[in-house]
Amino acid sequence: MSTETHTCLNCNSPEDKSPLVSLRFAGQPHWICTRCLPILIHKPYLLADKLAGAENFPVTSHED
Ligand SMILES: [Zn+2]
Repeated sequence: MSTETHTCLNCNSPEDKSPLVSLRFAGQPHWICTRCLPILIHKPYLLADKLAGAENFPVTSHED
């Protein structure tokens, strides 16, 4: 049980200001807001300094 306010891993927007989506990576829970979610999907390498290993995420592409 926790009452702490979660914040977006990218922009630190708190959950009472933006809808946050939960995700897990490498066994760790993370939260990302809906504005930053497209970055995680399309340009995860931009989050590499916030989410260790993100530079290695597969990038969703419609090109191939
Ligand atoms: Zn965000």
